[in-house]
Amino acid sequence: MPHAHSTENIVIVGGAIMGSFSAWSLRRGGFKGEITVVEKDSSYQYSSTALSAASIRTQFGTPVNIAMSLFGAQMFRNIKTVFGDDADIGFREKGYLILGGTDQVAERLAAAEMQRSHGADIQVLFPDALAARFPGIDCDGVGIATFGAQHEGWFDAWSLLSLVRKAARELGVRYVEAAVSGFDTQGDKVTGVRLSNGERIACDHCVLAAGALSGRLVAPLGIQLPVVPKKRTVFSFRTPFALQNFPMLFDTSGFWVRPEGNGYIGGIQPSAELDVDADDDFEPHHALMEDPFWPLLATRIPAMQELRLNRAWAGHYEVNTLDHNGVVGPHDELGNLIFATGFSGHGVQHAPAVGRAVAELIIQGGFRSIDMTPLGWHRIRTSTPLVESIVY
Ligand SMILES: Cc1cc2nc3c(=O)[nH]c(=O)nc-3n(C[C@H](O)[C@H](O)[C@H](O)COP(=O)(O)OP(=O)(O)OC[C@H]3O[C@@H](n4cnc5c(N)ncnc54)[C@H](O)[C@@H]3O)c2cc1C
Repeated sequence: MPHAHSTENIVIVGGAIMGSFSAWSLRRGGFKGEITVVEKDSSYQYSSTALSAASIRTQFGTPVNIAMSLFGAQMFRNIKTVFGDDADIGFREKGYLILGGTDQVAERLAAAEMQRSHGADIQVLFPDALAARFPGIDCDGVGIATFGAQHEGWFDAWSLLSLVRKAARELGVRYVEAAVSGFDTQGDKVTGVRLSNGERIACDHCVLAAGALSGRLVAPLGIQLPVVPKKRTVFSFRTPFALQNFPMLFDTSGFWVRPEGNGYIGGIQPSAELDVDADDDFEPHHALMEDPFWPLLATRIPAMQELRLNRAWAGHYEVNTLDHNGVVGPHDELGNLIFATGFSGHGVQHAPAVGRAVAELIIQGGFRSIDMTPLGWHRIRTSTPLVESIVY
């Protein structure tokens, strides 16, 4: 891509974590032109960012995801240096503990080796060591566990979004509350976005950061971006017994649970036949609590046999149905349309790295820090998946 000129305009569609990190990174990278973030709902109540479990892990099957998480964790650790002394996102670096079955030992050992070779600090625990280190966990059926001793844990996504938005605004980024309803194109360029209030904003570059709705938004352009909204329910509950130093646990059965405040949050994917595209459906999938979440939870962590549900909420994963990985970089025909979407449930942690990548692409004409080429549009065009194997 050619370098951007200081008089150019950038329009970013979607102003949650991806859009805001893109805007802020562009300014930090020295972009002097106009940046307009178009966000249809400044309350963000339905954004994935506000509804997410806000956790970060380096245990991925795709090296570029590990690199992005390491950058994210570094930023979260140094949040005051980045956003000022008052900045606080409550980063708890308590690790992910991922349990594997007895038939998964070789595969999980290889994954841990790969993750370590990319800078992740992953420890392997066999059942005896697992039981000694995390006594609350029943090791039945577990053949191996992997634990991220650094760079993994959880934080407050809303605080992170608030910080980056405020910082972007202070650097002169304009946020407009309106819905993008379409795009104007000429030849190989997007020349402007149309708003549902009838206005039009001209642009030299357009960044697509509309989360789970990204696929639908570009469909009228003839672009088949395989990003769809899938509903994921989070249960917030308390138990009579507190488990000390409990990590983010991913069970062999697919449920996850982690501490949150004085209690816990957790969830599990619905079965494939129930996992239809979510559209506007934000009603929690309450039935998942009774079957299968709670029985699985109580079996794996007997201290959680008694629990009191506080509340449940549902948000949308922006699932890239091709391979569960993000799409970052320009479209091949509309070269100034840049994707920053499709992260399939791991986008909050990756937003700092994606924002920086978008800025490098626009300002310098190519990726400079982390090479995001593997996440590019080409794989969508050619149906060549870069499969993320560790998905929850
Ligand atoms: C239950 C749940 C748990 C999760 N857990 C984690 C986790 O532990 N760790 C992690 O890293 N990620 C997690 N995620 C995923 C993470 O939330 C997303 O990957 C991330 O928030 C994506 O950010 P985004 O800015 O692309 O999308 P969003 O936050 O959805 O933002 C998109 C924005 O675009 C706006 N928009 C959409 N269409 C238009 C339009 N036409 N015009 C203008 N604006 C528009 C929307 O209003 C919205 O504000 C989870 C998600 C869910 C639902």
